[in-house]
Amino acid sequence: MKILLVRPPRVKQAVTLGEFMFCEPIGLEMVYAVLMDRHEIKILDMMIENTLEKELETFKPHVVGITSLCIDVNMVKSIACKVKEINSGIIVIAGGTQAFLNLSSFYDINIDHVFKYTTRDNLNLLFDALESKKELHLIDGIHSKVNQYRSTNVFGRNEYIIPNRLSTQKYRQHYSYLGYKPCAIMQTSLGCSSNCDFCLRWRIEGAKENDIDLECVMNQIKDIQEDSIMFYDNNFLNNRDRLEKFCDLIEQNNIVKNFICYGSVKSIISHPETIKRLGKCGLKAVLVGYETFSEKELADYKKKSTVEDNYKASKILKEAKIDCWASFMLHPDWDTKDFKNFRSFVKKLKPEITTFCPLTPFPNLPMYQKYKDRLLLRIEDYEMWSFSKVSIKPSKISLSRYYFEILKFILFVNLRLNSASYMINRFGFMTLIRITKGSIKILPLYIKLMLEVRKS
Ligand code: SF4
Repeated sequence: MKILLVRPPRVKQAVTLGEFMFCEPIGLEMVYAVLMDRHEIKILDMMIENTLEKELETFKPHVVGITSLCIDVNMVKSIACKVKEINSGIIVIAGGTQAFLNLSSFYDINIDHVFKYTTRDNLNLLFDALESKKELHLIDGIHSKVNQYRSTNVFGRNEYIIPNRLSTQKYRQHYSYLGYKPCAIMQTSLGCSSNCDFCLRWRIEGAKENDIDLECVMNQIKDIQEDSIMFYDNNFLNNRDRLEKFCDLIEQNNIVKNFICYGSVKSIISHPETIKRLGKCGLKAVLVGYETFSEKELADYKKKSTVEDNYKASKILKEAKIDCWASFMLHPDWDTKDFKNFRSFVKKLKPEITTFCPLTPFPNLPMYQKYKDRLLLRIEDYEMWSFSKVSIKPSKISLSRYYFEILKFILFVNLRLNSASYMINRFGFMTLIRITKGSIKILPLYIKLMLEVRKS
């Protein structure tokens, strides 16, 4: 069969980090790897080229598979609609994060099958059935229109599949992670045992770590053509012994790459010597979720770290000469004094890069119930659920004042914390220009949000 795998274009009105962190569609690369031997298959990344109609006309796929993030629902449905308009015989499949979290959002006249989770087995079973045109029985993880979207109800999660990165060869020079461009991504471990209250990732991947064999990891690293790799494990720094073995293998194989990873404060402070060694083995930056200056909020979020731990982690990274790309969460109960305390806290931590998002109670999270009465978004306003919009009504200041405080914080980060000089020193002037273009787009979005609230 001919299969076209599609990543939808960016949702324009969403405020996301996409301008700074633009990763390969690795889920589609995994599907490609499973199906490539028996089918003719290609990937269309609509974030780079918006050529769906041309592909439908020239490639003439029998199946179009569309991946999704939480904010993509309407975009996926509109792609499905366009596909069926052009050729109603094309089979349309939806999958991705949103399908796992909110399956029924894809129950749509133009979508034939929805993958709640993807495994080698369910991919092969479905495509065998589609090819043979035999009656479609229920398959684990797949909800088909012909079966009224029923499935076997067997619980499952996405299987770890080694992606075929050649499938995105023509796009790869575009993928970047902040100043590292081109940059590949890979996963060396699934799940997370930290179980933070606000986090979707461990709920999607599992409540404890499932580490991939390091030989398999090393083989992938050797195969990756890019000089920079972002490990998108939930907490790459979790296991000291595994990290030491990782460093051994990097040294034995003379691998010289730039690595970026997510790492928890708890892991950084529990094995500082290993963190230093990782720095010598190529670890350039760690994305750390410090979240807040408030001890109470850290406890409420069920973070396993304290404010003091945050300072310790920051010091360890600086001593190891590893950049810290910090992320924070803005609590809806903050007032202007809290924002001021927050700015002082960030100034003391002095991360090289600072990102933030307002606390977002996604419908699948327990905290959704807690904030249900203060929600500013409806569940079906899918595009609005981007991490940067205020979704909970602030309790102590007005919404427009809250947006004003966010704007003040953005200016504080850019003008006072010298992010610009870090960018130039680390990545050069052209990267600063590229990133600044993204920031410039974000600033008016917040100004617009603030003014909209004032008018209403
Ligand atoms: S450490 Fe990170 S990935 Fe793990 S549960 Fe907490 S926020 Fe989620």
